[in-house]
Amino acid sequence: MAKLPNARQTATATATSQTLGRGGRGQPVADETIFARVYGAIVERRLEPGTKLGEEALCETFGVSRAQIRRVLLNLAHAKLVELRPNRGAYVAQPSVREARHVFEARRAVEAAVVERAADRMTEEMFESLAAIVREEHKAQERSDKQAAIRLSGDFHLRLAQIAGNEVLSSFLQELVSRTSLIIAAYGMTSDSGCSHDDHWTVARALRDGDAAAAIAHMNQHLRFIEEPLNFVTEADPLVDLKTILGPPAES
Ligand SMILES: [Zn+2]
Repeated sequence: MAKLPNARQTATATATSQTLGRGGRGQPVADETIFARVYGAIVERRLEPGTKLGEEALCETFGVSRAQIRRVLLNLAHAKLVELRPNRGAYVAQPSVREARHVFEARRAVEAAVVERAADRMTEEMFESLAAIVREEHKAQERSDKQAAIRLSGDFHLRLAQIAGNEVLSSFLQELVSRTSLIIAAYGMTSDSGCSHDDHWTVARALRDGDAAAAIAHMNQHLRFIEEPLNFVTEADPLVDLKTILGPPAES
């Protein structure tokens, strides 16, 4: 699995990139910076599933070589956020319905384990750190800052994984949270699909009260509330590439 930046690093890299602009004053741009910027744009749903990530445009944007862009795209492909199509280049991944279902199934399993461990370790300070995220999430929603709301809702889940203190679970969850964002972008019916901060409060309070069973049940229900409204009916693409479908099988 590719090493993902944590949500806070992603946010910082996104903010920095916006001020530095192309290439960043002649300084070499690190792979991690490019990764974080593209990663941030995908999980914040500024780059939609199916968007072509042209190498030339990326080279120009970051002022780096094609080899470097290819390296970053490969890492994003390992994180399942980018799809590399033979002879056609890189695209923001378009998760299938089956994949989307599997991601939610995996989240329910991983987050139940996270919540159970977090309940054991929860201190007043840890609860406060969760509460602070939920308050920020609420403020972001009030001012209709969708990107901040998406980032903060991911932060809530990842903070829980940190509290649980199992780095393997954290790493699984990081991948699942970013893939969920892509799934919501692909199948969400409304622009505010995703986490509800009310649900986050309910989970956090159950954890503060040391009620692991209730916290797991609330988390499970929370994930179902995100999954259920998604529109998993696939529509035919009117601009489907006939050559790909009807032409001779591609060599692999
Ligand atoms: Zn959530």
